[in-house]
Amino acid sequence: MPKKSRTKKTKSSSRVLRKSAKRLTSIQHQREKKVLAYDIGGTKVHAAIITEKGRVLDEVRVSVDFSKGKAEVFRQWIDAGKSLLQRHPEVRHVGVASAGPLDPAKGRLLDPTNFKDADGKTWGVVPISKLLSRGLGGIPVVLENDAAAAVMAEHWVGAARGVADGMILTLGTGVGTGMMVDGKLVRAGKGLHTEGGHMIIRAGDVSAICGCGNHGCIESYLSGRSFERRARQALRAKEGDAGFSGQELAERARAGEPEVRALFEEYAELLAVAIHNFVVLYAPKTVVLAGSFANAADLFLEKTRTHLEELLVRRRHGVDFLPKVVVSSLENRAGVLGGAFVAFQQIIC
Ligand SMILES: [Zn+2]
Repeated sequence: MPKKSRTKKTKSSSRVLRKSAKRLTSIQHQREKKVLAYDIGGTKVHAAIITEKGRVLDEVRVSVDFSKGKAEVFRQWIDAGKSLLQRHPEVRHVGVASAGPLDPAKGRLLDPTNFKDADGKTWGVVPISKLLSRGLGGIPVVLENDAAAAVMAEHWVGAARGVADGMILTLGTGVGTGMMVDGKLVRAGKGLHTEGGHMIIRAGDVSAICGCGNHGCIESYLSGRSFERRARQALRAKEGDAGFSGQELAERARAGEPEVRALFEEYAELLAVAIHNFVVLYAPKTVVLAGSFANAADLFLEKTRTHLEELLVRRRHGVDFLPKVVVSSLENRAGVLGGAFVAFQQIIC
């Protein structure tokens, strides 16, 4: 057989093989169980169809205007889910990761901090699971706190994959905490979720005012919003001055501005103190940093690790308490993946 035609034949059979492999993968995808998952925050909603292996098959992200009132916000949440369910009618379970506080067992939001109408009126207690289920045609809905969902997602398919003792710190508008010990989520008493962002690390520091009404909370230093406020204070800038968004400050530090670099050094030290305090309580093997401020990790992560090692120097003998500190690998999908994880747990139970 001439060489040319043999090559042709090999090429065409490999194409056939590729095609059938593709078809097989697509059949496997169709056979995998799927759920609809939500990540609900104070400015947007992210909904996705996710398989039991943590694959995101389809997703929508919508900005939500809370100023139009609760009914309109619910309509937007429901529409986002409905658009996905129309394309995936076989999906019969929904998992929701939401900003809190909330009661996961009863499926209720408990006057969530960042959900407010235009006149500043807060929402009070809202049976979110029941209302979403009704809007989505009666399919069951389970609810979870967003930081709790995120730590479960990291444990399932992220940076703490397969790690039984792990924790997450979400460094966003606020600071959220989620812990897993022995593969199980750690809850607080009274059916609540741990509010680690409000652990006080510098009592009486009037320069660090927290939204909770206290001074010196972890959140009052380590949230993106707090970092921006502290930068304006330190550099004597006024509200509205340009160059003080988290991203701009990171760029200024990368460009070598010493005052801004010093702020990131303080951030690294305080983050190490915060992590130390969680380590002595929960002994996580891996600490995952997530949220938009984790994008600036190149400016503080190494120093955080060094400070943490110093703080834990006496806790490395016998049982080594020093955890791995890493940045989330799930980008901005930890919330929906966590929502999916809790929905799958419901299916298994
Ligand atoms: Zn606080």
